[in-house]
Amino acid sequence: MAAPLVRISSKFARQVSQPWRVCHYGLRNQSTRPGLSADAALSVSHPPLQTYTEEEGLMRDAVKRFAQDRIAPLVSKMDENSHMDKEVIDSLFEQGLMGIEIDPEFGGTGSSFFSSILVIEELAKVDASVAVLVDIQNTLINTLVTKLGTPAQKEQYLNRLSTDMVGSFCLSEAESGSDAFSLKTRADKHKDYYVINGSKMWISNAETAGVFLVMANADPSSGYRGITCFIVDRDTEGLQIGKKENKLGLRASSTCPLNLDNVKVHEKNVLGEVGHGYKYAIGMLNEGRIGIAAQMLGLAQGCFDQAVPYTRQRVQFGKRIFDFQAMQHQISHVATQIEAARLLTYNAARLKEAGRPFIKEACMAKYFSSEVATLTTSKCIEWMGGVGFTKDYPIEKYYRDCKIGTIYEGTTNIQLSTMAKFIDKEFDL
Ligand SMILES: Cc1cc2nc3c(=O)[nH]c(=O)nc-3n(C[C@H](O)[C@H](O)[C@H](O)COP(=O)(O)OP(=O)(O)OC[C@H]3O[C@@H](n4cnc5c(N)ncnc54)[C@H](O)[C@@H]3O)c2cc1C
Repeated sequence: MAAPLVRISSKFARQVSQPWRVCHYGLRNQSTRPGLSADAALSVSHPPLQTYTEEEGLMRDAVKRFAQDRIAPLVSKMDENSHMDKEVIDSLFEQGLMGIEIDPEFGGTGSSFFSSILVIEELAKVDASVAVLVDIQNTLINTLVTKLGTPAQKEQYLNRLSTDMVGSFCLSEAESGSDAFSLKTRADKHKDYYVINGSKMWISNAETAGVFLVMANADPSSGYRGITCFIVDRDTEGLQIGKKENKLGLRASSTCPLNLDNVKVHEKNVLGEVGHGYKYAIGMLNEGRIGIAAQMLGLAQGCFDQAVPYTRQRVQFGKRIFDFQAMQHQISHVATQIEAARLLTYNAARLKEAGRPFIKEACMAKYFSSEVATLTTSKCIEWMGGVGFTKDYPIEKYYRDCKIGTIYEGTTNIQLSTMAKFIDKEFDL
């Protein structure tokens, strides 16, 4: 088994989790982007947003190399075959990337939420499907079990989630998408167990998942206040994973329906409190949106990084196409949009880590990064002309993959509506 990229003790991870704070300790441990030395960071009272702790910087650089060496060679084949290579999944576990925030006591890396965001961004530069596998595992599944699990649940599941078991988050149904809490799957109590009946749609990573966090209503008479989160093992009788969707993009990420037919789950497998599932789902998706923002940001940057070198080599009318002012203005505009998406995403992640309100900012980051990914990938195809439209270059895949950013973990309309609620309140007297 390969050594993990970075393993950080939970004590240290906690100490460095607020690197923007002006304290002697934090600044000593910061590494920075090229162009801003640690000494320069020390001399300013408010370090720039793109200032990383030593661990964050190490992790980002290591994941960048890992993605190039181990994932990039397989991306095209995985997209073509609509299948995530097992070797890729195994290597993500080996490198400690499936349990980034999980305590080392449970086999995790013991790092921070911000590190997860950097990891998702780096992976998405190379493959958005791999990025969403890591994103859902870290920002939804692991966080739910860590925050809500009983000691026995943590012992049983966190060890596996950090080392060899993929988890799926099961909220959406055919009839309930944006209106998620109108879900129809129900859980009826019998003695010390529940019987779950219903079906789920669009469940990411279901093809390989070993455990499913299923939202089902244990008390439909209470409406959404009956929604409860259940831990359902893959081999539970009555749980069927349906045929995966044939999608436009994100093809290596499996998306499947689930059927739950008299699935018997012991009450010890309720995650958190009965009837609190809706709160948990909202809370996790608020955080998860920052992960999707990072996925779209990385995807945009990855596409841009592949297209710009082409414009510097391609010659028309006797000069590089990069040298035409019309091209330069477009390239600079897109570069600015990507930078703005990065700042929104990092700011939302830092706010979340600091325990400050972050929901509006998370929506903004997800909304904006998805828009930027759409703009970037479309422009990159245009900049490359005919070849950008072919499968000889990776640009068309980025174009297909980015579309999901405006749909999952809350559509663009839902992000905008949520932001508007906050804006409205801000203007209350
Ligand atoms: C590839 C993929 C992976 C997914 N992974 C998961 C997963 O792992 N787990 C999971 O639980 N779900 C998952 N989903 C489901 C995803 O979260 C939903 O598709 C999403 O929430 C939208 O729901 P819907 O598809 O039913 O669209 P709808 O809710 O029917 O929306 C259709 C259109 O109507 C608009 N609309 C709806 N309501 C309003 C409103 N109130 N105001 C304005 N406009 C509105 C929407 O913005 C959208 O444009 C996944 C989906 C996909 C495609």
